[in-house]
Amino acid sequence: MDKIPVAVLGATGAVGQRFVQILAEHPWFEISALTGSERTSGGKYSQVCRWVLDEDIPEAIAEKEVGDSEPTLPAKIVFSALPSRVARPLEPVFAEAGYVVCSNASAYRQEPDVPLIIPEVNGDHLALLEHQRANREWEGLLVTSPNCTTTGLVFPLKALDQAFGVHQVFVTTLQAVSGAGYPGVPYLDIIDNIIPNIPGEAEKIQQETKLLLGEMVDRERKEADIGLSVQTNRVPVFDGHTVNMAVKFDRPQSPKEAEEVLRDYRGAEGISELPSAPEFPILVRTEPDRPQPRRDRVASDGMSVTVGSVRPCPLLDLRMISVVHNTLRGAASGSILNAELLVSKGYL
Ligand code: NAP
Repeated sequence: MDKIPVAVLGATGAVGQRFVQILAEHPWFEISALTGSERTSGGKYSQVCRWVLDEDIPEAIAEKEVGDSEPTLPAKIVFSALPSRVARPLEPVFAEAGYVVCSNASAYRQEPDVPLIIPEVNGDHLALLEHQRANREWEGLLVTSPNCTTTGLVFPLKALDQAFGVHQVFVTTLQAVSGAGYPGVPYLDIIDNIIPNIPGEAEKIQQETKLLLGEMVDRERKEADIGLSVQTNRVPVFDGHTVNMAVKFDRPQSPKEAEEVLRDYRGAEGISELPSAPEFPILVRTEPDRPQPRRDRVASDGMSVTVGSVRPCPLLDLRMISVVHNTLRGAASGSILNAELLVSKGYL
């Protein structure tokens, strides 16, 4: 088939660069436009983008011009890696103009008629697009991806909730600096340090987790009845968020049984056939010192969440640790998988 032309809004940022890297090799999609702020618009991508990834800028992209975020881009799908304050006014303009907008920004994640999607976990929430069409009269549509840390939490919780019923979760995060975008946290603040405050993050993780684990009942999304307490920290790691969690279940099980459930989790049917989907959405490590962000973040091209250190918890039932690649599964690649799902379901 001919490749589908796609645009990346905010292509010069931390997430935008990942979009460029992954889309350059994508079997279904082809980058037709890149946008940036006034600072970068009008320049050649290789000259105006402060590229931070190990691999070079893909050759086909380096010479492309960065344009304005106007709804005249020659694309069918628009991936938004815009800051939320910019996404709020801009994303509806694109959806209204007929584009399929796949957003990483938090601006619309909690709107009742905007699907917040991880394909393996809750692809059926795309049914909310019916309400979106009725409410907004857009020619196109808007679908969002969760906060990067939420993704690392939701995969193990989804698998365990299906098996044992999740009742309460205490969460402590250790989040990489790339999660703050470019240029992000000042070096002198983060080196030799941990910053126990990421504004708004704990609230997003709590609310988005309940939405993602919620069920569709009579074409409405019913949020999950789970108690969550979340403390977030920024740590001097480049990529890869670590999520420490203690979980109380309706039907408590041993660490071994939990590991089996996590290992067997495959997610919703048909998703593993999409080009960006990993064969195993959750990988389980049994070594006492895993998972680690540097060693586990790139598992399955950054698309698997790695869970380990599954232990009894003296207060709740079980403790465990997960690692998610924040700019791949937690952002660009997760959003690309959402677009693949939309294509496979005929939304284009
Ligand atoms: P970032 O590094 O600050 O990048 C922001 C991008 O938006 C840059 O390309 C910037 O262009 C562009 N931009 C800023 N103002 C603009 C405007 N007025 N018009 C058009 N473009 C504009 O941020 P990021 O970390 O990539 O995050 C992007 C979005 O993804 C955010 O909403 C964030 O919350 C979300 N997200 C991030 C992560 C992560 O791990 N970083 C994970 C999940 C979700 P210039 O280069 O020209 O300034």
